[in-house]
Amino acid sequence: MILICGGAGYIGSHMAQWLHARGQQVAVLDNLATGHRGAVKWGELIEADLRDPAALSRVFASRRFDAVIHFCASSLVGESVAQPYAYYGNNVAGTLNLLEAMREHGVERLVFSSTAAVFGNPESALIDESHPTMPINPYGATKLMVERILADAAHAYGLRSVALRYFNAAGALPQHGIGEAHLCETHLIPNVLRAALGSGATLKVFGDDYDTPDGTCVRDYVHVEDLAQAHGLALDFLAREAGAHAFNLGNGQGFSVREVIATAGEVTGTPVPFEMAPRRQGDPARLVASSRKAREVLGWQPTWTTLAPIIDSAWRWHRDQPAWSLGPAHCGAG
Ligand code: UDP
Repeated sequence: MILICGGAGYIGSHMAQWLHARGQQVAVLDNLATGHRGAVKWGELIEADLRDPAALSRVFASRRFDAVIHFCASSLVGESVAQPYAYYGNNVAGTLNLLEAMREHGVERLVFSSTAAVFGNPESALIDESHPTMPINPYGATKLMVERILADAAHAYGLRSVALRYFNAAGALPQHGIGEAHLCETHLIPNVLRAALGSGATLKVFGDDYDTPDGTCVRDYVHVEDLAQAHGLALDFLAREAGAHAFNLGNGQGFSVREVIATAGEVTGTPVPFEMAPRRQGDPARLVASSRKAREVLGWQPTWTTLAPIIDSAWRWHRDQPAWSLGPAHCGAG
């Protein structure tokens, strides 16, 4: 059985669906701070918090896990700047508790959800694994610290791990009733689609004076189903390889904020209204991945390689999303 920490969240729920579809048994551990009970459809939900070591001990003592996939984290950049203690506590100290429970109970494989934010301001057009890691906010710093802990744990305890640094996770699997449902939404594509639905919120474009072809920021959008595939391949990889490893995951193509809005207009059939706003603090102009290593070493083959189908899948989810995904907006630390 595979334990998915954070399996009630956006990427974690897609992971559970992906593993279940391939005959794997899964269990989901989540504190439901930002996840959704309704997104846990493919295995038992264990309500627990990583900051509670006694609870983790009980969870690991009562079940036998072959591996852990770890998505539990607070993940809002701005919030991490305002509340760094909450971020280090949840993302770093919480992960240490999880690693300790794994060690106590002899669970030796971990796939860790990392982020392009470990790189900070990019120094090259395509970011590969040799790019310097210099996070510019506490969120990125917490993820890099965990990567460092995983390297030390490989050496000291023989923990096998893969850290997957996602660029911009996007899309949904509407046929399975799962998608991106953050109550406090800061991401571009959901905000564009909310504006397309006429939700009342005005879409703001944060800056058009960047050094990019149309002045707006360029990002590399990768479908959650392709991210789930990479985690599955990472589990297989760790069955044969020891050590701590890291891979960048993206499509290798950049799209500007304006291009995303224009494509969403084509997908939804009406132009999406927006207004220009000042730059958002901490946004690099361009973040695009080189995923060559993941393709060569893990055998990763993304299937969602163009923007319109990715946005279309997200659109079909947003248009028809279930009641559980909706709720009052709140932006508390998860
Ligand atoms: N963005 C925007 N309006 C929004 C949300 C995001 O203009 O309502 C921009 C943001 O400034 C960035 C890009 O869209 O340049 C992608 O932002 P997102 O938060 O989706 O992902 P990030 O790259 O920050 O992880």
